[in-house]
Order: sequence, then C-alpha cells, then structure tokens
Amino acid sequence: MSSFSRFQRLLRLGRTLTLSQTNRRVLNQNVLKHAASPQANLIARLFSANAEPNPEHHSIIKDTEKTIGSSSTHEFQAETRMLLDIVAQSLYSEKEVFVRELISNASDALEKFRYLSLSGTVEGLQDTDRKLEIHISTNKQERILTIQDTGIGMTKEEMLSNLGVIARSGSKQFIEGLKKKSATGENTQKIIGQFGVGFYSAFMVADKVEVYSKSAISTQGYKWSSKGAGTYNIQEAEGVQPGTKIMIYLKPDCREFADNDTIKNIIQKYSNFVGSPIYLNGTKENIVQPLWLMDPKSVTPQQHGEFYRFISNSFDLPRYTLHYNADVPISIHALLYFPEGKPGLFEMSRETETGVALYSKKILIRNRTDNILPKWLRFVKGVVDSEDIPLNLSRELLQNSPLIRKLTTVLKTRVLRFLLDQSKKKPEEYEKFYADYGLFLKEGIIVNHDQQEKEEIAKLLRFESSHMQGGVKVGLQDYISRIKDGGKLILYLAAPSRVLAESSPYYESLKSRNQEVLFCYEPYDELVLMTLQQFNGYKVVSAEKDMRDDKKAADLTNLGADSLKRSEIDSLTKWIKAQLNGRASSVSATNRLENHPCVVTVEEMAAARHFIRTQSHQVPEDKRYALLQPQFEINPKHPIIKKLHKLSQSDIELASLLAKQLFANAMVGAGLVDDPRLILTSMNELLTKCLEKY
Ligand code: ADP
Ligand code: MG
Repeated sequence: MSSFSRFQRLLRLGRTLTLSQTNRRVLNQNVLKHAASPQANLIARLFSANAEPNPEHHSIIKDTEKTIGSSSTHEFQAETRMLLDIVAQSLYSEKEVFVRELISNASDALEKFRYLSLSGTVEGLQDTDRKLEIHISTNKQERILTIQDTGIGMTKEEMLSNLGVIARSGSKQFIEGLKKKSATGENTQKIIGQFGVGFYSAFMVADKVEVYSKSAISTQGYKWSSKGAGTYNIQEAEGVQPGTKIMIYLKPDCREFADNDTIKNIIQKYSNFVGSPIYLNGTKENIVQPLWLMDPKSVTPQQHGEFYRFISNSFDLPRYTLHYNADVPISIHALLYFPEGKPGLFEMSRETETGVALYSKKILIRNRTDNILPKWLRFVKGVVDSEDIPLNLSRELLQNSPLIRKLTTVLKTRVLRFLLDQSKKKPEEYEKFYADYGLFLKEGIIVNHDQQEKEEIAKLLRFESSHMQGGVKVGLQDYISRIKDGGKLILYLAAPSRVLAESSPYYESLKSRNQEVLFCYEPYDELVLMTLQQFNGYKVVSAEKDMRDDKKAADLTNLGADSLKRSEIDSLTKWIKAQLNGRASSVSATNRLENHPCVVTVEEMAAARHFIRTQSHQVPEDKRYALLQPQFEINPKHPIIKKLHKLSQSDIELASLLAKQLFANAMVGAGLVDDPRLILTSMNELLTKCLEKY
C-alpha cells in the first residue's frame, strides 16, 4: 500500500473511530515525513488540533466542592413533573443528544459571561479575566460524566427558577432583558437556549444529577441535586469554582456515556463548531471553524476544500461552492458544495441519504437531513444553519414542520438559480457538471408534481440540436429564442446517436421544413421531456408524436406522377392491414416521408419505448400490439411500396411476407422491438422466397 493511500485510510478511520495516542503519534511522524506534499499538509492541518504537538493536558475539573449547612427540598411543579417525563422518555430520538444539550447550556453560560464582562453593565462581576472554557471528564468506574464551564453560573434564585421549572428558559429571559435595554439583538445571537427543556434531557441517562454553581455576581456557591422524580435539593457549598459543574450519575445501561471515545465522537458530531474550546479529559476536542457563519468573501478556496472533505468524508474537491446568508423569509446560513468527483453507484440510488446537515447556531440538529433538500439533490453536500429552528426538533417534527418546508423551498430555489447562473457564466464547466450530474436533474423533473418547479429544473437541461453542430449543447431557453413564425412547439427526437437521429424517418420531413429539433441520446431524456409536457407556455412534443398528429400528412392530393394513385393506396392499405393481422391499429399513407418506405407511430413514443425496455417481456406479443396501438404509415412514392402494390396482385405470398417485414423493420426503426434479432427469421424467409427464381 502506498503511504498516501495509507494516509487516506487513516484519515477516514480517524473520523469515524478515534485515534489512539499511539496512532496519533505514528500519523504525525508520517505527516512530518511527507510534509512536502499538499496532501500531507491537508492531513496535518485537519488533525492539527488533535495531534501532537499537544502535550499540554489542561483540565479544571477538581473534586473540591463540599456542601455546608442544611439542605432544602423542593418539589417540581406538577406540570414540570409531567414534562420531565416527556423530555426524559420521548422528546429526543437519541439519548446521546443530552451531551449536546449540556454543552449548549455551557456555551450559553460562557457567552452570557462574555457579554456581561464586555458590556461592563454589571457591577461586581467576579474574575473578569477568567478563561472561558468547557471541560468534560469521564469516570468509567463510577459511571460519572462531568461537564463544567467557566461561564456566568447561577445564584440560588436562578437555580430555583431555571432548574426547578421546566420550560422556563433563563436564557430566553436573558435575551429578552438585553433586548429591552439595547433594542439590537446582535450580541445575543450566539445564545442557543430558548425552550427550557434541554437540561432535563440529562434524566434520559441519569439516576441522579448534581449541579454545582457559583454565579459571577456572587461569592457563594450552591449545590442542586435531583433524581428526576418529583423533588430536588438545594444546599450551600464551599470550594465551588466560578461557573457551573454538572455531574451526571449514569444509569447502568447508559454506562457508555462515561467512555472517553463515545463522548469524543458525540462532541465531534454535534458540537464541533461551538464557539468556545471544549476539553475532554484534558484534551481539546472541537477543531473546525464554522465556515458557514463567516463572511463568504473571507473564506479561501483552500478552507472550502478542507471543510468540504471534512463534512463529505471524501477526498475530492468541490467543483461549485454556494455560500449564502439570508434573513428573510427565514434565517439561513447555507454552505453547499457540488462534488468534483462523479457520483458513485451508491449515490445514484434514491435510498441514499442526502448530504446536508442541519444546524441551529452552530449546534448540529441532524447530520444527514433527508428533507432539507429534495431527494434529487442528494449529491449536494454541506451545512445549513438556521437559528429559527429549535434544537429539540424531533425527526417527526422535522418532517412536518412548516419552517422546514419554507427552508427547503428557499434552498431549492437558490440552488437552481445558482446552477443556471453557472451555466451562463461558465458554460463549459457547466457542461462537465451536466455530464456527471445531469441525471439527478432529470430525476428531479420525473419525480416532481409541481409543473412550475419542473420547468425551473428544465432550464438546466442540455441537448444537441439539429440546428447546431454535433457536440454543441443547447438549453430549452436557447431553443425558444430561435422559434419563428409564432410556432408553439418544442420538438425533440430520441435516438441512440446523432447519425441515427439525422437519418430517422421521423426527422425527414421536419428537416425539409427546416424545423429545429432537439436530439436526445440519453436513455431518460425522452421520458423527462415527455413528463415535462410544457415549457414557458410551449408544448414539448416528440418528433414521432408530431408526425402522428400531423393532419396535413394525410393530404394526398398533390402526390405527383411517381406516386401510387388514391384508389391504389386505398386498396393497398386495406390489404396490408389484413396481412398484419391486428398488429397495426391502422394503416395509412403519408406525404411526410422521402427516403423511407414506411414508419410506425404510437401515441407516446417515450412511454412505449420505456414499456418495451422494462416490461414487455411479461406481456404476450398480441397483447403488446393491443397496448401500443401502432399506426403504420406508408410512403406511396417509395419504390418498395409501389412494388408491394404490384406484388399484392400477382404474388400474394411474397407480398404478404414483404408487408410483414416492412412493418417489423419499422417497429425496429421506432425502437419498439426489444431484441432486433427477432426479425431475422422472417427476414431470411423473405430472402429465400425472393431468391427462389434465381
Ligand atoms: P434553555 O437552554 O433552552 O434555556 P435548558 O433546560 O437547557 O433550557 O436550561 C434551562 C436554564 O438553566 C437555562 O436557560 C439557564 O438559565 C440555566 N442553565 C442551564 N445550564 C446552565 C449552565 N451551565 N450555566 C448557567 N446556567 C445554566
Ligand atoms: Mg439549553
């Protein structure tokens, strides 16, 4: 294995598992060895916070607290008790989110302290130069998880009101208090809490919770404790450090949360972007800057590259980056990436989850949110942060939330507009994107129920055109801009290649009338255009359907001298119909063919071909024709047809073989025979008959 691919593996492992100290050391040595390569630089940077040199062990968690005096017991209010049960048992779908909630509270406490010490509005604030940090320690033996912060802390009264009453958010009150004072909400944007339920999520995993806290405006510390069943105690305590320390005594079946690596993974999953440092057992764990909250102009492509690889778990680069912030109609910070690499088979599947994570104020709500972007945009990777979305949104709520729907609509529109802009600004780059990811756009049209949205996506489709050279791609808007004489149709022809499209019987008469036709070569193109039906008020119609519906085609008044006469045509078409024995629903003559003796048309060629490709083998042959209702159209000027007319009166057996063969050939020409080898037997029979006389 080359050392770089070993790096890659290690890197991947490092994300999912955690690097042990030894591995980390080995990785670092390797990184140093390969320091000259850009890949090594990337890896070194990604791990810089995890990896050495970081010999510094830094923890503030100490066992110094001692309760003093007597303890007072308080009852949770009745509603609180009820809510407590709900929070502890069913509000959150995954237990691990309690870590996220407690870290969010710690982060809030730090932000509040930061704000108060900067604003200088509160007198007697203690230790204003303290380090603002979050510390977590795990004690596996005793099943204790401790989370401590150096934030604002709580007074006794605050403990009573903020921890004693559920759904009472001290943080919300704090924000409201500030808003009254300053009118601008700017400084409060970093505060996460507002619902007053997060703290109680600790009871999902805890037998007992103890909170030691010393408020920044007080010299007295307190201990709050509860088993989550009806009552809690408050008592004075000594040796309490400024800020808050929460000790979770884990239930036996939740012992995993006293494990260093489990907590490490949870921090990286949910709280990687929290604004203050988080130390786990003395080591700093959160590393990545929340790029999406930065000014888009200040983020370098290199930062994007690293961040993209971090979130998408891949090794390519983004080909497009869409970084955008908005406040109306909903607060959005979105950073979306379109991968450079081609989609893997796995991504093609609709079962794949989407690649966009949903955050609220830098805290992860859901990692791979399946309805932030529509399924067909599942190749887009990135982050969406909206402070309007509550952190405790459950999966079910997420699916039915009007807020999420609004978010989805805004993002979808933005993505489509972005791609359209790219297609105009840098068409060549866009064409490469289209070649790799066009299939997803087509899926977007096929699965969509909203005509307007279909048409928005359809602006991004690209096809070759009969009016352009091979290799040149045009969009539907280009096509429309060239329509003259009040034409109301967008015509397309599906064929496996340009050569076959240009020599197609369905194209012949359109060509002679100088009608522009879009040529589509990809398997799904015609289905996409068929489901599209309309674009900008223009009907989207296949060349075959146009031919079938063409009323003027049946006008046989000016056929000229080298054509069969009307009476001959009438008797020949009747005779052919009888020979085909129910396979053709009708047989008629057309003036729209030049070099071809005949064609078959069906009502919806795309649907028919799709049926033939996918299901026809389950349907017996006679039923197949009944379903397809093929219309057989003959060219009365063509030498074969004229000969057929003669033969039908002289050598009925040969004429009958010929008629059937012409029909079979036309079915192949229309792409309506799943295996053309099927017609060889009848072809050989016909040839034998023809050659009999020689
Ligand atoms: P929310 O965070 O939505 O306000 P929580 O249930 O998570 O609700 O917390 C309730 C309240 O308890 C917070 O608003 C805050 O006033 C207080 N609180 C919780 N944790 C801390 C902490 N670490 N430091 C200071 N106050 C805290
Ligand atoms: Mg909270």
